[in-house]
Formats: sequence, C-alpha cells, structure tokens
Amino acid sequence: MPHSLFISDLHLSETHPRTTEQFLRFLENVAPQAEALYILGDLFEYWAGDDDLDTPFHRRICEALATLPASCKLHIMHGNRDLLMADAFAATCKASLLSDPTLINLYGQATLLTHGDTLCTEDHAYLQFRAMVHNPEWQAQFLAQPLYQRKAIIGQMLLQSSQSKQSKQMEIMDVSNDAVLELLRQYEFPRLIHGHTHRPAMHIHHADGHTCERWVLGDWDTQANALQIDETGIQQLKLS
Ligand code: MN
Repeated sequence: MPHSLFISDLHLSETHPRTTEQFLRFLENVAPQAEALYILGDLFEYWAGDDDLDTPFHRRICEALATLPASCKLHIMHGNRDLLMADAFAATCKASLLSDPTLINLYGQATLLTHGDTLCTEDHAYLQFRAMVHNPEWQAQFLAQPLYQRKAIIGQMLLQSSQSKQSKQMEIMDVSNDAVLELLRQYEFPRLIHGHTHRPAMHIHHADGHTCERWVLGDWDTQANALQIDETGIQQLKLS
C-alpha cells in the first residue's frame, strides 16, 4: 500500500557511528518501499554550512540519501541544529527543503509538519537565540567566516549547551499547549506531526470543537524510529 515515512532528530554525527549505521540501513531497507520520506529536522547534530559537504562522513550520508529510488520523494526540514542546510546540500541529496511549518494533504487528511522548537514558547532564552540565528544578516556574517572558525564556534555552543543545566533543559523542554492550539487554529485544525522534544507520543487536542491528533517523533539516540502513514492510518515503527 502506498505510504509515507516520517523521521526526525537523528542528530547524525561522526561521534555516534551506531546511529549512522542504523540510518544507512533504514535508507537501504525501509525507505525505498515508501513513496515519500520526510525528515522533520535535526538530521545532523550540527551543520556549519554547505561548504562542509565534502567530508567523508557527509559524503556518505548524502550519497545514501541521493541513491533512494526516484519513487521515494525526499523532503527535508531544518531543525534547530541543522538550520544552515541550504541549496547545495539539498541538490547533493536530491531532496527538497521544506519550510517550517508545511501543510500537506496526506492520503486525504490535512497534516501539518513542523520541527517543533517554535512550539516551546516557555523557553524565552531559546526563542531569543533562535531569532538571532534565523536572522539573514546574522547567517550571512556567520557564513562569511572560514569553515574551521564556524566549527569552533559551534563546538563552543554545543559545549556550553551540554555544560549548562539551563540549556540542557532546553532540549527536553516540552511544547506549550497554548502554542499548539494557536498553530492548530491558524491551519484550520489539521493533524500535527513534529519532533524536537524527544518525547515520542500521540496527543489529542480539543480546539474550538475540533479534535486534532499530535504525533511526536522520537529521537534516534534512544531508538531508531519512524512513523509510517497510509490511507488507513499511522503506524509507529521501531527499527532497532
Ligand atoms: Mn531539535
């Protein structure tokens, strides 16, 4: 039966070879049967810029994505960690980049896709940081620095994030119910799929007389996982 697959928060990095192997196996054995693969953010632990494509690690991942059969359309959304993925990356992977959020018609059901970090509205410090790094001027300035310098800055940010309890909390902070309701209203009460929080679950939201499902994808550090959706419904796949 025609179906689509959804994954997010793989946080691929050379330091986690097990996750990389699981992902490559998934691309080889599971994804080719789908008519679409949606990666809803944080495919990579970080992305310093498209001029970093030419490393053995990135080449391996991008080649595996590019060799998906043409019958499986590849859609990639930015997460908070790989927001600098751009056109050269997408072309190398033969992917289309999705804006966040994106509303699709999935087997007759309106489905809204988002990474999920914009729903964590109680974390004001994070939203401030997010606004800064999404500013085109900030990005242009950042990308104008040499690659090694950008990597050093990102390494510093990741180190601070893992050392500071407050920033660590940011990763595990859950979405705000009000932000979810606002988004559901704005898009006329679709089904919602997102990642980011690393709290895989299905929630039901009641909004203005509508009942909406919110599916949360899990991260791959804990367990390789995906949602498989066809016209009959949603199935949670555990891949490891
Ligand atoms: Mn994230």
